[in-house]
Amino acid sequence: MDFDLFVIGGGSGGVRCARIASGHGARVGVAEERFWGGTCVNVGCVPKKLLVQAGEYGAWADDAAGFGWTIKKGPHDWDKLIAAKDKEINRLNGIYRRLLDGAGCKIFDARATFIDAHTLDVGGQRITAEHIVIATGGHPERVPVPGAELAIISDDTFYLPVMPKKIAIVGSGFIAVEFAGIFQALGAEVHLIYRQPLPLRGFDQDLREGLAEALATQGVTLHPSCNPEKIEANGEGRILTYGGGQKLEVDTVFFATGRRAATERMGLENAGVTVNKAGAVVIDTKLRTAQPNIYAIGDVTDRINLTPFAIAEGHALADSLFGKNPRSVSLANVPAAVFSTPPIGTVGLTEEQAALEGPVDVYVAKFTPMRHTLSGRARKTMMKLVVDQATQKVVGAHMLGEDAPELIQGIAIAVVMGATKADFDRTIGIHPTAAEEFVTMRTRTRVAGVAQAAE
Ligand code: NDP
Repeated sequence: MDFDLFVIGGGSGGVRCARIASGHGARVGVAEERFWGGTCVNVGCVPKKLLVQAGEYGAWADDAAGFGWTIKKGPHDWDKLIAAKDKEINRLNGIYRRLLDGAGCKIFDARATFIDAHTLDVGGQRITAEHIVIATGGHPERVPVPGAELAIISDDTFYLPVMPKKIAIVGSGFIAVEFAGIFQALGAEVHLIYRQPLPLRGFDQDLREGLAEALATQGVTLHPSCNPEKIEANGEGRILTYGGGQKLEVDTVFFATGRRAATERMGLENAGVTVNKAGAVVIDTKLRTAQPNIYAIGDVTDRINLTPFAIAEGHALADSLFGKNPRSVSLANVPAAVFSTPPIGTVGLTEEQAALEGPVDVYVAKFTPMRHTLSGRARKTMMKLVVDQATQKVVGAHMLGEDAPELIQGIAIAVVMGATKADFDRTIGIHPTAAEEFVTMRTRTRVAGVAQAAE
């Protein structure tokens, strides 16, 4: 065999797996056909967060007046922002490549396809490997309506030649609500068109309601319970038909309607690797595909599609195969953030999920954060704890409000450790912060779950 391990895909998960395996002494090759660092670094988390921050500066300039500053906000320079962002992304690209190089991995800037379970075609070269990891991630999907090709997808948003003045965003998942906040903050008229009554299906109901309210308050026009039907070109502009024949004329239609695992044209069938109906690679708890020497990690398996989770899996797999430390990553209590405006941080069960398992005590706090008592901005923070009544363990913590992702990361440690409500209560708050609310919520807001019916 040419390699002990060959990783297909140079994104977050693949790169981590390759580096750690190499550190354990394995002979490792990695192939990437598009960009090192994958979605997260190039057309995902990292550039997205920079755009969110660009929006925040505009809002801060407005808010400063309440604190005595006279700041005259000029127009936003989209080209300048994109150029600065590109420079940073190029730098990170290089770092990812160098990390692999430095770790002793052999790098292939090429597409890899399976010839059989141990043989790959890598840019025309035949390569054999004992173990192979599929870490090819996913790509954005359009809804198949007439004119769908006229819509942009998230990959495009980072390279738009001009900032849209009026945009229709279809969907209400992570990407849709994050970009609704970005474009609104940068001065566009934003319409959010989604098929659910509330955005962010699957998230805690209070978060969903709070976010809908926050989006509407900042001026995003919400079109709930609407499906896209057709897109037509109108010169450079677009006409979106949606929700039973309603029409919206915009500069840009953006489909933020989910992602699909990147498994096409890889020759998976030659290697005995199976995929599910959504095209995602099917794996067992040890990350093994139907072919025992071939593994899959991260978004290509379509379970928890988050960068840190893919990284954790890549690391665990390398340790298991070459580090004499077999281990797996838990799917429970994986914290997540949505960089909406304001952002969301969440860990553990939603109230609705927890209530299905038994009675839960629910604590909710909603308040105007201190900054906005002077800024005058109409923005609320919402914090919530979901506590299992029998064990008093905090099984879910949720927040909508400024710094929520930063704050929930720490709370997540407590939740992962199995902290009880009493543990939260005996922790002294840091004053004055929003975070202290998580340790000072004393009055139960409601009981949910089985006991709810009994009470
Ligand atoms: P999501 O799965 O989060 O959301 C997809 C959205 O598109 C939903 O609102 C869904 O509606 C809607 N949709 C799907 N199909 C159709 C259809 N046929 N017609 C109308 N609406 C449709 O996907 P995203 O694209 O937003 O993001 C992909 C994933 O990437 C996320 O789930 C997340 O795992 C990850 N991500 C994480 C981020 C973070 O950590 N901050 C940021 C961005 C992405 P419905 O709810 O009804 O199904």
